[in-house]
Amino acid sequence: MMNDKFKDECGIMGVYLKNKELNSSSYVYYGLYALQHRGQESAGISVNKDGKIVTHKETGLVSDAFKGNVLKQLKGNIGIGHVRYSTSGEDGVTNAQPLTVNHSVGQIALAHNGNLINDSALRNMLEDSGVVFQTTIDTEVMVNILARGLRHGMIEAIQRMVEIIKGAYALVITVGDKLVGVRDPYGLRPLCIGKKDEDYFLASESCALDAIGAELLRDVEPGEIVVIDENGLTSYGQNNWVKKKACIFELIYFARPDSVMDETSVYAARHEAGKILAKESPVEADVVIGVPDSGIAAAIGYAEASGIPYGVGLIKNKYIGRTFIQPNQKLREEGVRIKLNPLKETIKDKRVIIIDDSIVRGTTSKRLIAILKQAGAKEVHFRVTSPPVSHTCHFGIDTPRRKYLIGAKKTQEEIREILGADSLAYISLEGLNQSVGGKTTFCRACFDGEYPMEVPILNAND
Ligand code: SF4
Repeated sequence: MMNDKFKDECGIMGVYLKNKELNSSSYVYYGLYALQHRGQESAGISVNKDGKIVTHKETGLVSDAFKGNVLKQLKGNIGIGHVRYSTSGEDGVTNAQPLTVNHSVGQIALAHNGNLINDSALRNMLEDSGVVFQTTIDTEVMVNILARGLRHGMIEAIQRMVEIIKGAYALVITVGDKLVGVRDPYGLRPLCIGKKDEDYFLASESCALDAIGAELLRDVEPGEIVVIDENGLTSYGQNNWVKKKACIFELIYFARPDSVMDETSVYAARHEAGKILAKESPVEADVVIGVPDSGIAAAIGYAEASGIPYGVGLIKNKYIGRTFIQPNQKLREEGVRIKLNPLKETIKDKRVIIIDDSIVRGTTSKRLIAILKQAGAKEVHFRVTSPPVSHTCHFGIDTPRRKYLIGAKKTQEEIREILGADSLAYISLEGLNQSVGGKTTFCRACFDGEYPMEVPILNAND
């Protein structure tokens, strides 16, 4: 079955323990565990002891990739880790991260979340100069460019790489005695800094810092390079800083609700979006329910603002992993409900408002409405905490081609009819903006087509 949600990118984690006798691998492991929602296809950890790097990576969940004694064998006070959802290149262990290269100045390990839009051009250029690639992922392009610049020193090598690569990226790198974090000049992909005593941590989301008992210090700024070594943390700005355009979809859907990103609480933003939706698009009803997990906070907000009681209306099976075999069309028609099952006690004979984070293709929303009606709902009113998705993301989020985005092709009334809802309303762009505190520092290109940088020209249907 084709995906009907935007797909997470990847999660990255970096650890620097001041005491060189300690091992970073357990911290990386528990950090990755907290970031598992960002990628379930592979997991990997590289540890660095005195410049010597050892890596272990496997396909599957973090708990599958690091079984038995594997963690104990990864020794080193500096560690980086990665959980992958494939946005570029095929999946499989060859494309798992971190990637390592040997260079005359030492070994480098790098893990990346994001997507380069000039990957093909750079790959061709490197191949023309004799580079043989082992993987199909853009991360290998970055590692090669980085390695080429290392004779100028590490900071200059990273600055040179940032000048050349275009797109969205958050990186954790270890080389020599250092842990390095880099965020692209728009800050499209998230990366934050944590601290516990004299130890430093880098993570895609602050929930990973909570998991290991570290305190959130701040975000890595757009275009910033942070270098952590025995002298603590040093920040290097970038000449090509443009302006902050962090991905707003992190707050709408990707991130865990207990994370704080770009100084914005994910839970609070979703809750506020629900309140705003209630004001923008009220409707008479008996109960408000949310689609787990990202619709729950918004449903509570909608209920509070409207005075209509909140109810648990859909129960999610939490144990569906990446190898889950989707039921075929016949089974779906017969009503198998494996991922989400309606709670009849909440729904039967009620006018139901259901809150979801987005409508991408529309297939899941249509199915949800049908199962609520099968469960006895008298009316179903669909409310969405993002505006219609009408453009493809080029920055590391797996989006269907534009011709499959229902919001790009149909009017709101046409979509309502296709979904079978009694009413349909999306939050406005202005309302979404308010829900994240009125900041204009977010990319919203999948809604308004205003990409923060030049993107590849696609044909009308892409
Ligand atoms: S286009 Fe949408 S999904 Fe992609 S970075 Fe921008 S806001 Fe995020």
